[in-house]
Amino acid sequence: MVDKQQVMAALSKVRGPDLEGDLVSLGLVSDVVVSGDNVMFAITVEASRANELEPLRQAAEKAVGKVDGVEKVMAALTAEVKPGSRPAAGRTPPPAGANMAPPPPMQQPGPKAQAAQTMAGVPGVKHIVAVASGKGGVGKSTTSVNLALGLQANGLKVGILDADIYGPSVPRLLGITGRPEPVSPGSRTLKPLEGFGLKAMSMGFLVEEDTPMIWRGPMVMSALQQMLREVDWGDLDVLIVDMPPGTGDAQLTLAQQTPLSGAVIVSTPQDLALIDARKGLNMFRKVNVPVLGIVENMSYFTCTKCGERHEIFGHGGARDEAEKLGLPFLGEVPLDKDLRTRSDSGQPIVVSAPDSHHAGLYRNIAETVWASVLGDSAGQKRAAPRIIVE
Ligand code: ADP
Repeated sequence: MVDKQQVMAALSKVRGPDLEGDLVSLGLVSDVVVSGDNVMFAITVEASRANELEPLRQAAEKAVGKVDGVEKVMAALTAEVKPGSRPAAGRTPPPAGANMAPPPPMQQPGPKAQAAQTMAGVPGVKHIVAVASGKGGVGKSTTSVNLALGLQANGLKVGILDADIYGPSVPRLLGITGRPEPVSPGSRTLKPLEGFGLKAMSMGFLVEEDTPMIWRGPMVMSALQQMLREVDWGDLDVLIVDMPPGTGDAQLTLAQQTPLSGAVIVSTPQDLALIDARKGLNMFRKVNVPVLGIVENMSYFTCTKCGERHEIFGHGGARDEAEKLGLPFLGEVPLDKDLRTRSDSGQPIVVSAPDSHHAGLYRNIAETVWASVLGDSAGQKRAAPRIIVE
């Protein structure tokens, strides 16, 4: 088992930003998280020097990578924002009250390449679709997994990235355990794991379940960008991104820095959730990502005994809302015990009960989503992403 002291000892051999002193004695190392054979940490630098100091970040990762027992290292450059200072162009504003830190670039871009690189595509992946919700517990992950499997059932090559870094549930929903291996010894690029034919990547594969993920925004962004770009996805028609719930700064940054073909919003019929869903819609609009439609989940409940339909949360709210907002309504998924039991035991309904009503619903939703992804990429050209500088 690797311990923090070994990590700090390795980092004390890495020279500081001006080749004086070392990272540890200069007090630049923070947020060291050790989880099994994975290590994550942050290095504080001046925001304006983030690009210039990318080699320092890499050197620190390399040094920690040599510690016995360390399998994977993630280092992020972080910077304190001085009041009144501006984040670098092409970056999102810092989360309110958080320490600003531009996520470290994956390669070393020149200043001009920066904005373009922020939205660079993922090699081999034709389309990326985000599944989002205004709040947790509405069935976003269940929808992501079954939508991904529905797209696959319709003949597409599909992957799923679990970006819900604080509560990863894709490993459980797909019944996958194990750790991603590097594509070749010493490589930073990981092979995704596979479940029911879907290529999958999740923070849940990289850290122990009970590791507290008390990360600052930049660490989250760095981890997500690595899970997106340093994974050998192979050839995929579409990668589904299960977004973290909510519409905060982390979600906005993720939406902005991922080259999304579109987003699907999941909502329950309750009013409150719909208000949250509207926030989700606005978030994607802000970064010019087309919203492909709304799925109403836990829409109604059909009694298995009497066959009667009970609309326990009210019903139709999402359909009405979608209409008002001029968005496609993708479908309503009833509350169903079988769906829940299968999902929670790693047997998603689209594959474990392909003839069920629910499996059919998800395949239909997948068909509509795909048609609108193709419509969007072939027809209306997406406006260039707007870079927000505050
Ligand atoms: P989120 O990702 O929004 O937090 P999940 O997909 O994890 O939500 O779902 C939360 C819980 O609700 C899970 O136990 C899941 O099995 C259950 N669930 C989701 N959709 C339905 C549904 N239509 N019927 C019954 N249970 C559902």
